[in-house]
Amino acid sequence: MTPAHVIVDRLSFEYPSGQRALDSVSLIVEPGERIGLVGPSGAGKSTLLLHLNGLLPDRSPRHAEDSAVRIGELPVIRENLREIRRRVGFLFQDPDDQLFCSTVRDDVAFGPLNLGLDDTEVARRVVDCLAAVGLGEHLHRGTMQLSTGEKRRVCLAGVLACEPDALVLDEPSSNLDPRSRGTLIGILKSFEGVQIIATHDLDLVVELCSRAIVLDNGRVHADGLVAEVLANERLMTQHGLEVPWRLRAT
Ligand code: ADP
Repeated sequence: MTPAHVIVDRLSFEYPSGQRALDSVSLIVEPGERIGLVGPSGAGKSTLLLHLNGLLPDRSPRHAEDSAVRIGELPVIRENLREIRRRVGFLFQDPDDQLFCSTVRDDVAFGPLNLGLDDTEVARRVVDCLAAVGLGEHLHRGTMQLSTGEKRRVCLAGVLACEPDALVLDEPSSNLDPRSRGTLIGILKSFEGVQIIATHDLDLVVELCSRAIVLDNGRVHADGLVAEVLANERLMTQHGLEVPWRLRAT
């Protein structure tokens, strides 16, 4: 497996409504880096993440070499979307946008089946990944009967079951109880590929990430070490954020 890196080069994006969501965003994520993407609501975090999986069209490129987003050597353009989505596991902010099979088992199996894996391998991945998120006993439950936190964990199991090279996670810890949040942190710590995590849970960023990016109004306002960026009270206040407890001067 080639370790994936992610390059975003001057990505701008407007929704069809005319709402500008990203304004010349650039970043380079090295293989194995875990990045916390933080900023107030409406900053553009989800919009940026959606571009990393080709879920929103980069309207600018006419040619592959003009693409503003690359995963490894691959530009995120229509012809590459199947391979991009194999490489990048994407966790949606709202689990209802991600779950579409009626049972937990079928939902987690969907991705691996789509990759063309045989039934034995699919069954192994389903069991292992549900066990990893603490839902090993819930194989046959209906997805719509689950709590939001359980739905999020099923979504994460489905993402992990595809064994992606990189993870792009939108608010992965929301609606999780402390035990499930701890399980999530353990899973993400043991995942070796690139991780880009958009979250309001700044303690999660402190615990998991080495680097933090502050996005506001569609622009990158800071990009550096977590211990420096998130401890900068002036910067945090300016962007509607708070210094996390663990980085506060006593
Ligand atoms: P965040 O994830 O940081 O909360 P978003 O990426 O969801 O921010 O939103 C960035 C901006 O784009 C906001 O102004 C938001 O209202 C707008 N936006 C998000 N989704 C849509 C959409 N589908 N149509 C129009 N505007 C949108």
